[in-house]
Amino acid sequence: MYKILKKQLTNNKNELLLLGGSFSCNPPLIIGVVHGDEPQGEELINQYLNDVENTGLLFIPCLNPDGKILGTRTNSKGVDINRNFPTKNWVYSKKDKYYGGDSPASEIETRFLTEVLDEYTPSVILTLHTPYKIVNYDGPAREHSEEISKIIGYPVEESIGYPTPGSFGTYAGVERNIPTITLEMDENININLLYPKIKKIFEYLEKH
Ligand SMILES: [Zn+2]
Repeated sequence: MYKILKKQLTNNKNELLLLGGSFSCNPPLIIGVVHGDEPQGEELINQYLNDVENTGLLFIPCLNPDGKILGTRTNSKGVDINRNFPTKNWVYSKKDKYYGGDSPASEIETRFLTEVLDEYTPSVILTLHTPYKIVNYDGPAREHSEEISKIIGYPVEESIGYPTPGSFGTYAGVERNIPTITLEMDENININLLYPKIKKIFEYLEKH
């Protein structure tokens, strides 16, 4: 059992959704498809929601529905949502696949997520990406990351190896001190083989 807690139309009139079951204050938040060409997160979240009776978690199954339909990393305006958050290190960048937008939080998708943080103050956040097979984190998430690493078998890495101005990890983890984990999954593994491990990770987060 879950319901739609928040809904917003994107530039291309697709629905951005926040879903949740019955939860107390500060529910953990799980986010899929920040990058449109990484659709696995939404499939895994939907499988979990179909699988469980109830959930204490919040979910944004697909933060970038326009990009998912277009098959692009960016949204329909060519902006990498993961570079568009209003962080102190946001920069105006060249218009490649990491383009951070015309200004910080210029994008509907970015604002949808910052509003969810303001409205629910999640205790911990997990975003589902591909393809690096690492557990990356920002903010006070070392312990959670190590537990997740044990379940999925990917190493914990504190930094992804290149600067990410305007990233969600910087916004939520570094600047707001919310434990924020970026799980980079294998993109070549069958989703049905990945799901049991992801389910265990969600169950772990249900307790936090
Ligand atoms: Zn990604």
